[in-house]
Amino acid sequence: MNIILLAPPAAGKGTQAELLENKYHLNHISTGDLLRKTASRDDDFGKKMKGILESGVLVSDEIIFEILTKHLESCENKNLLFDGFPRNIHQAERLEEMLEKWHDKLDFVFLLEVDKEILKQRITGRRICRECGSAYNVNIDSLKPKVDSICDKCHGNLYQRDDDNEKSFEIRYQEYLDKTSALIDYYQNKQILYRIQSDQSKEEVFQELCGVIEKEMKK
Ligand code: AMP
Repeated sequence: MNIILLAPPAAGKGTQAELLENKYHLNHISTGDLLRKTASRDDDFGKKMKGILESGVLVSDEIIFEILTKHLESCENKNLLFDGFPRNIHQAERLEEMLEKWHDKLDFVFLLEVDKEILKQRITGRRICRECGSAYNVNIDSLKPKVDSICDKCHGNLYQRDDDNEKSFEIRYQEYLDKTSALIDYYQNKQILYRIQSDQSKEEVFQELCGVIEKEMKK
């Protein structure tokens, strides 16, 4: 099973990916996480990546495929759950070619829909665990950690992403509208796009996602 989570920034891709990964034993691939790992390197390339990520613009397709291909080579589980990839039509076409080579295909593209104002509110409150990557939100009661700045699951420290501020958010949102949102029609035409209202609780969103998967698997 191969899935794409398609959504504007802070719509809950990472949170839902974690839940889906556990339930369906998928290989969660976040290109944002792979890039943040690269950006933490103390060399020129790492510094260049850090600058791009902080600004909020998209990284070039060449760099994305270089990092992604290397990562996929090291993965045994080929049931893929993409979070934050593809971000434009060219990436989508290359992904299709890659899957075809493996005699595989995409099964579901979930579009997580949330109003821009809610996303803005979410982005400033988002905190991530440095150790396990779990996401929290200090602006939303149901998503707050039990102890301030500490992960409920692994007791790691929580941090705020450098691009989780209003200025970077505006650029990331515009990049989504300009480049990524074209994928909505693209996957709708392929009849694998499922729209999920994502301004509900994480449990409700997850239930909807699972409902679609179970229903389609029975067909
Ligand atoms: P994310 O963690 O998905 O919000 O991504 C954080 C940042 O990483 C984005 O604002 C982009 O700069 C970059 N990025 C992540 N995935 C991609 C991608 N597939 N293509 C281009 N840039 C990406």
